[in-house]
Amino acid sequence: MDKRVGFIGLGIMGKPMALNLLKAGFEVTVYNRTAAKARQMVSQGAKKANSPREVAEETAIIITMVSDTPDVESVILGENGVIEGIKPDSVVIDMSTISPEATRRIAVRLKEKGAHLLDAPVSGGEQGAIAGTLSIMVGGDVEIFERCQPIFQALGKNIIHVGSNGMGQTVKLMNQILVAGTLNAVAEALIFAQKSGVNLEKAIDAVKGGAASSWQLVNLAPRIIKRDFQPGFMIDLMQKDLNLVMRTADEMKVALPVTSLIHQMYYSLQCAGEGKSGTQALVKALERLSGVQVGG
Ligand code: NAP
Repeated sequence: MDKRVGFIGLGIMGKPMALNLLKAGFEVTVYNRTAAKARQMVSQGAKKANSPREVAEETAIIITMVSDTPDVESVILGENGVIEGIKPDSVVIDMSTISPEATRRIAVRLKEKGAHLLDAPVSGGEQGAIAGTLSIMVGGDVEIFERCQPIFQALGKNIIHVGSNGMGQTVKLMNQILVAGTLNAVAEALIFAQKSGVNLEKAIDAVKGGAASSWQLVNLAPRIIKRDFQPGFMIDLMQKDLNLVMRTADEMKVALPVTSLIHQMYYSLQCAGEGKSGTQALVKALERLSGVQVGG
């Protein structure tokens, strides 16, 4: 396959993903809105473009990894966007988490140019992005998915085609329901353990090998007890996802009572100025209910 790949959005996730593509031997052309982050990548072997349009002019496979639905629309469909430089048969792989419905609209606009879209959101956090072990859930034409396998293999381990455009994003929203509920359970369990006086490190070690284990427990519980609320995944981004979940559930008429409650607790944290904290700061909303602080 053509070894040239474009990469737009070098944030917490995008930067290590672009580095993994370089390590796998791809020639990577990068664009980032804040240019300094793209300049850092040049010293690692990447080529810098001045706009998403330029990325699309220079490469036939363009990955986007930006924050939210309007941001993906802006870099693909906006002024100096990918769509202005894209060539027929090129592929855009959007790995951000955004609206399934907007994804289908973007696919139609790219189709008008003879180009293809894969929605390929990821799970596995910053650690998974660095290690190249992300789970990738892909929506779009199977044939295009197969064409892009070498790229997915450089970024992840569990790579599943789940259906047509928008379905990758739908499965990612399902993933976020699971993440939010599990993290809430981890936070409640730690508050319970703290109040009981048990040693928290030993308690985590005791349960993490059994049926209660989870990514959230293994990766975030140790950070919670150290009061480390640095973001791997920011609360503001989680709320973007839970907004998409609640909107989609409303359209389908599905009740998600626990997810809805967690969405409100995260809202209280945003109101308290915690939007840029990591999702593990959920524990702070629960601590207030019981007057207990975990770890420290
Ligand atoms: P991040 O660190 O905040 O990075 C966001 C990136 O998007 C930055 O490069 C930012 O550019 C760029 N961007 C945002 N709005 C833009 C716009 N309007 N035009 C151009 N560029 C724009 O976020 P992240 O954690 O990497 O997350 C990226 C995506 O991955 C999100 O959809 C998130 O939900 C998803 N995700 C994140 C995780 C995680 O654990 N972090 C896990 C799975 C999925 P600047 O540098 O100029 O700000």
